[in-house]
Amino acid sequence: MLDFNYNALSGRVIFGPGKLSQTRAEAEALGMTKVLVLSTPHQRDLAENVADLLGDLVTGIYDQAVMHVPVETIADVMDVVSQLDIDGCVSIGGGSTVGLAKAIALESGLPILAIPTTYAGSEMTPVWGMTKDGIKTTGRDPRVLPKTVIYDPELTVGLPDFISGPSGLNAIAHCVEALYSETQNPVTSLMAEEGIRALGESLPVIVKQPDNMEARAKALYGAWLSGTVLGAVGMAIHHKLCHTLGGSFNLPHAEVHTVVIPHATYFNRDHAPQAMSAIGRALNVEADEAAGALYDLAVSIGAPVSLKDIGMLEGDLDKAADIATTNPYYNPRAIDRAGVRELLENAYRGTRPGSE
Ligand code: NAD
Repeated sequence: MLDFNYNALSGRVIFGPGKLSQTRAEAEALGMTKVLVLSTPHQRDLAENVADLLGDLVTGIYDQAVMHVPVETIADVMDVVSQLDIDGCVSIGGGSTVGLAKAIALESGLPILAIPTTYAGSEMTPVWGMTKDGIKTTGRDPRVLPKTVIYDPELTVGLPDFISGPSGLNAIAHCVEALYSETQNPVTSLMAEEGIRALGESLPVIVKQPDNMEARAKALYGAWLSGTVLGAVGMAIHHKLCHTLGGSFNLPHAEVHTVVIPHATYFNRDHAPQAMSAIGRALNVEADEAAGALYDLAVSIGAPVSLKDIGMLEGDLDKAADIATTNPYYNPRAIDRAGVRELLENAYRGTRPGSE
């Protein structure tokens, strides 16, 4: 029986090759006249391109965005924000850069125009995060949701395969958990299944032909869908585990998602039959092979499949299981420590789900 709530989030999306050229028009449409362009140090050149496109709307470039939005960086950028008296931010880059724009919006209420260059999906969510003394705090606030997002697949051509693969599987993980979310609904489930399909088809092409624009566009389309569902419904065991592993053991964000998602899917296999069917349809396998197909996809694109290979220590698995089972998120299968410990063990070893 259909029975659901659906909360649509507002936001304008411009999608297509070459759409970066519309940056000035979109900034003007948002009423921006004194823009701060944000980037990582690595993407400074791209930020300068954006500044050129914005012309006299630009007041400055801040190129110090880093992973997980440290409070020290926020304090530094807020000094720049008040010195320059800006009225909006344009972020060009991945989740770290849009994360910094969100921190500014949280403190100032200023609008964000986001131009993503990875598949992380943060640009579609009202979720902010910041890190103080090694501890990451997250929250939801409608002010941090970018007002406009420009998706230009040409910007993702330079994303190397070792970032494209995990970034794409990170996006798939949002879709998988949206399918068995406590707040799942027919609209987000359609988007989630299509997101897995789009990324499942495009990632294997991208790692072989990084400049295949059709595949790049399809992957970015999947990333948009994944960010949309991440912003619209709650997540479950997989995201709790990844926050634990990333936050407490300092493991790389997208790679942790890549390694854990097949095992989290397997953990829930008997408790989320509709989700397994949707993943199976999207990846062209039977529902009972959903978890295995996610693992096979990671292997086929050369992405990591074991926690051991991305820096996890075996001696920390017990501690990780303890943290992940404290204040757990909703999950379709009841979360028990023994089950989570086994999941972590399998993810640590990198075995194919179901083969243990
Ligand atoms: P990232 O933004 O840290 O980017 C990784 C590196 O790749 C950076 O050095 C960046 O400059 C570089 N890069 C980005 N795009 C590139 C391109 N096209 N070509 C070449 N290099 C490029 O990584 P990410 O995975 O996009 O974001 C991870 C962060 O985003 C984490 O902190 C995560 O917690 C956060 N996140 C937040 C949300 C949310 O809803 N709040 C959602 C997803 C991720």
